[in-house]
Amino acid sequence: MIIHMAAGATPDQTQRVIDRITRDYGLRCETIVSDTTVIGVKGIAGIIDEGRISELPGVESVIRITEKYKDASRTFHPEDTVVRAGRVAIGGDNLTVFGGPCAIESEQQALESARISRDAGVDILRAFPDKSRTSPYDYRGLELSRGLEIASAMKAETGLPIVSELIDLRHLDAFLNAGVDIIQIGARSAQYSPLLEELSRLDVPVILKHGFGNDMNEWLSAAAYIMSGIDREGRSARYGNRNVILCYRGIKAFEASTRFAADISMIPLVRSKSHLPLIADPSHSSGDRKLVERVAYGFIAAGAHGIEFDIHSNPAEALCDGKQAVLGGEAKRIIDNMRRIHSLLDGLGVETGSVGRVAAK
Ligand code: PEP
Ligand code: MN
Repeated sequence: MIIHMAAGATPDQTQRVIDRITRDYGLRCETIVSDTTVIGVKGIAGIIDEGRISELPGVESVIRITEKYKDASRTFHPEDTVVRAGRVAIGGDNLTVFGGPCAIESEQQALESARISRDAGVDILRAFPDKSRTSPYDYRGLELSRGLEIASAMKAETGLPIVSELIDLRHLDAFLNAGVDIIQIGARSAQYSPLLEELSRLDVPVILKHGFGNDMNEWLSAAAYIMSGIDREGRSARYGNRNVILCYRGIKAFEASTRFAADISMIPLVRSKSHLPLIADPSHSSGDRKLVERVAYGFIAAGAHGIEFDIHSNPAEALCDGKQAVLGGEAKRIIDNMRRIHSLLDGLGVETGSVGRVAAK
């Protein structure tokens, strides 16, 4: 449920509405202040008597949200959300580039790949000690504590925030202690609710991919698991984690010549349905470095807030996904051109995102 306060509503009137909802129904509110005030009710708002709320002074309208992914929905939160990782902002009118090797293979490979990624202009470095692979015979990473040590060294060497994929809940503390700035939830764990619920207890930023066969509703509902902090009784027992970044990575379709099928229309569609930052992955979707550059441009032109892509110091020798990784020089050209495309959109008057103020209550 969202409650629009009237243009002249006073702070006291807004507070009275919030008090009523928190006291009478035990739910939490999130307030967005722009020209007018909008109050979003967290939790299952079905228990609220709509009539009683709409009669309170200063209330303009009360709207029920029917989407199953309420917290991730733009109806609930009209302004773009901007997520921060250190000095880097993701979402709104920012263009943010995530890049680096698919996996940490050795200290030398990881540090070389980290340096070329930094020099190419990435904002956030991929440092993946753990890999979720389809086959157990494929490379799945070094022993975890060694992999995390190298991930920390990649961060120290470049001064960039790092993103690492978390597969196993038991490793969460070790990831955070190693200085991982952003947790990635990959396609293979994208609907694993215990993992998503655990992340709702923290405020660490999370990149959420979607499963190979997930539709938009399933993807945004997974985001709502992280964001709502909702318990089984429908009460919002805690605030939840709002720092979710969506990453589109394509789905399985009948075309076998590309690795996955990336539907470009998902970019403006998801941007219109959700306020969350949306990036896209041209490496894991196309699966081929010859395709990555133009697919990356396509995603940015379609309105993505950035991309995440594979950069490797020696793709020919990579233990994981070398075929889709680009070298430093190509990465730099792609990043420079994406930045040009992003400002060109601005110059053409095509919306690239808005920034809003959000206050928690
Ligand atoms: C990855 O980003 O390294 C990855 C494995 O991607 P996905 O989860 O989308 O397959
Ligand atoms: Mn990969």
